[in-house]
Amino acid sequence: MTRSIGIVGAGLTGLTAAHHLKEAGCDVTVFEKSKSPGGRMATRRVGDGKMDHGAVFFTVRSEAFQTQVDTWLKDGQVRRWFGEEHPRYTGTEGMNPLMKHYATYVNVTLNTKITDILYQDQQVTLIDQDNIKRIFDAVILTAPLPQTMELISGTALPLSQQQRKELQAITFEPCYVGLFELKEAVTIGEHGLLDETLPKGIMKIVANDQKGISSSPKISVYMDGTWSKAHDKESEADILSDILNRFKKTFPDRDVQITGRQLKRWRYSQAESLYPDTYVKLEHLPVYLAGDSFVHPDDPGARSRVESAYLSGTGVCKALLDT
Ligand SMILES: Cc1cc2nc3c(=O)[nH]c(=O)nc-3n(C[C@H](O)[C@H](O)[C@H](O)COP(=O)(O)OP(=O)(O)OC[C@H]3O[C@@H](n4cnc5c(N)ncnc54)[C@H](O)[C@@H]3O)c2cc1C
Repeated sequence: MTRSIGIVGAGLTGLTAAHHLKEAGCDVTVFEKSKSPGGRMATRRVGDGKMDHGAVFFTVRSEAFQTQVDTWLKDGQVRRWFGEEHPRYTGTEGMNPLMKHYATYVNVTLNTKITDILYQDQQVTLIDQDNIKRIFDAVILTAPLPQTMELISGTALPLSQQQRKELQAITFEPCYVGLFELKEAVTIGEHGLLDETLPKGIMKIVANDQKGISSSPKISVYMDGTWSKAHDKESEADILSDILNRFKKTFPDRDVQITGRQLKRWRYSQAESLYPDTYVKLEHLPVYLAGDSFVHPDDPGARSRVESAYLSGTGVCKALLDT
């Protein structure tokens, strides 16, 4: 009998699990609360240009992810940006167009936030914001782990104290990103990325035009977790002015003229601590937790990132099929 699988979240983890489960003959539906798939592989269209404001690039350390990246390269969805030992790859048109392309092969239901989960008669029911109920043989939850824990906490799913403790120990850093439209292009390093010797608070600066995804000059300024936490209570206008001042200080000899500005506040960007496997199964339930913070101890990348999301998607799929 065909197994029906529900997946919460259409980021890279959820889409990867969906691809592999579909190939194995399962009937898979992915639920995504946003209007577009991709999650933290995010790109914003502004005027006649684009800005990545989530993942900037990805590297490859595993054979499994290399196979996927080779397919994307062949399809023209990804290009090698720069670097030799571990080259940095990026979506040819931006990170989100890559994810939209990846999502076309699986069944994704957008604008659907899962708000409750029930377990009854060996089956799992996912309930959405409109109280629509859908029943599955198994489900995979792939939101950033603290969000998954919020979701589970409001449900009647039994979770052992030990498992709750281990999962609640995984925390994420916030990341605020200033998005600036410029009158004239500013060259950022050799390739459009600067992630060293920056003023305190700034983690990286990306010139999206130089990176090759924007036809007009657009800069993304990524602030680190400590700075983002410290500015949590401030208004959007104050945060953007502060980021802009720091950005201008980085290039004192250049006349930077801003024509537009926006802020993206990520509550969960990358994990500060990791769960030591590619997934976890809730005890006695066909409910699996996966995502970029599930990182096997043998993974040489050893941090939450695009590749760890992919490996978690394939890992949870294998576990589910083996059950
Ligand atoms: C600012 C920033 C910079 C980064 N830079 C890099 C980088 O340079 N290189 C790198 O490798 N990685 C980077 N990362 C990390 C990388 O983007 C993530 O590791 C990866 O995209 C995670 O994918 P995921 O599928 O696990 O999670 P997500 O992409 O977060 O996907 C989870 C999805 O679940 C959805 N969702 C959540 N709750 C619900 C619900 N209740 N119902 C329905 N849907 C729900 C969300 O909307 C989301 O689409 C960065 C991340 C950020 C935010």
